[in-house]
Amino acid sequence: MLNSFLLLAEAVVYFAVMAALFRFRKRIGLGVFICALGVMHFLETYLASVFYVALPFGMVSPGSAVLFSGKLVMLLLLYMKEDAATVRQPIYGLLLGNALMIALVLLVRMHAIAPLANGRLPDIGFIDEMGWLMVWGTALLFIDAILIILLYERLGRSLRGAQFTRILISVACVLTFDQAGFYTALRLLSDAPTAVFFGGWFAKMAAALTFSTLLIAYLKWFEDRRIPMPRGLTDIFDTLTYRERYEALVEHVGRDGLTGLLNRGRFDSDGELAVQSSLRMARPLSLLIIDVDHFKLINDRFGHAEGDKVLKAVAALLAEAAGSEDQVFRIGGEEFAILSSRPHPVAKLFGESIRYAVKSSPNTRRFDLTISAGVSSVSESTRGLADLFALADHRLYKAKSTGRDRIVGEPAINESSAAAWTKSVQS
Ligand code: GH3
Ligand code: MG
Ligand code: MG
Repeated sequence: MLNSFLLLAEAVVYFAVMAALFRFRKRIGLGVFICALGVMHFLETYLASVFYVALPFGMVSPGSAVLFSGKLVMLLLLYMKEDAATVRQPIYGLLLGNALMIALVLLVRMHAIAPLANGRLPDIGFIDEMGWLMVWGTALLFIDAILIILLYERLGRSLRGAQFTRILISVACVLTFDQAGFYTALRLLSDAPTAVFFGGWFAKMAAALTFSTLLIAYLKWFEDRRIPMPRGLTDIFDTLTYRERYEALVEHVGRDGLTGLLNRGRFDSDGELAVQSSLRMARPLSLLIIDVDHFKLINDRFGHAEGDKVLKAVAALLAEAAGSEDQVFRIGGEEFAILSSRPHPVAKLFGESIRYAVKSSPNTRRFDLTISAGVSSVSESTRGLADLFALADHRLYKAKSTGRDRIVGEPAINESSAAAWTKSVQS
């Protein structure tokens, strides 16, 4: 009597917790339910191989009667409320997970085992016992899981209005099939008497009745009812998830869609910070503004799509040339900027190496691509990014007007008026 009551209590506890995980799947993710289902598999196999209790009609294991039957009902619930593609995941997961477990057990069996301090050795016989149970049980479970869904679908034609009967027949038939399959193996291996078959079968029929009742009750009273989740139910993972999404968003927002380089907005904000930090720490900072020569001709001759490819190739080249402390931006259509920690003369040489790299790159050689650049560096007279930019832009203009395909970093004759000049050009 106590045994029956305990089995019933186990079934209710199991069902209540699993159904609750399922009920809140939208809030906590379906993975929680599926993972819990998988974990229960361990206890199920263990109990089914060694743990039996006496009932009036025979020996019963909570592993089969409660956990195995319950799992099939849970898979059915998953199918009913989600879909075939979803239920396929745990079905295959259980199959493949068990196959992996068997493979690992075969390897583990080969160890020369050291005894524990108290001289105990692991029960290898138990692993063997679990071994065949796992192989056969895994195959059966896979068939059962598919069978219960097919049967449920099939019964829908005649029993659409009688949901309880439909579930009960599906579960009972599959558990009967399972018991027959299981008993056959037992019979072959250990010559088990037929009483074992009927003992287990009675227990499984009781389980089918119990779980079908619980399932109907759940579907009727809980699945569709709005159950408020406690408001304060957040955990550390909420923060982690949002942090990652937030960082991904920030990373994405500051980037140019075509080339993946930092965009104009980032140039304005990061550039100003870099200039101020350079002034404060008295560290060198140089700015290169690079413009592709006669780029319009490439678009005109080869089409816009080819033009885009060239821009990507140039961007990749710049990114590769830049050091880890340099930042590369796309600040206009075919205009790029590099903020570099190199001092002025080195930054100019760096510009020359880029000019050469663009000319000789196999990706752009057929376009006869050249670039022009203006280079400026932070000095005592620099007040902010605007000053640095005006100077570099002025020198870029000089590079263009003196024949292109060159880097200009020397002070122009009338450079003090560079800023004023840039303003007059812009207006
Ligand atoms: P210059 O040597 O004087 O710089 O001549 P240019 O033709 O390179 O300069 P201009 O500023 O006249 O033309 C730039 C061209 O770049 C015009 C525009 O169609 C093209 N362009 C701008 N953005 C993109 C883009 O994202 N993709 C492509 N394919 N072309 C672009
Ligand atoms: Mg341009
Ligand atoms: Mg250009």
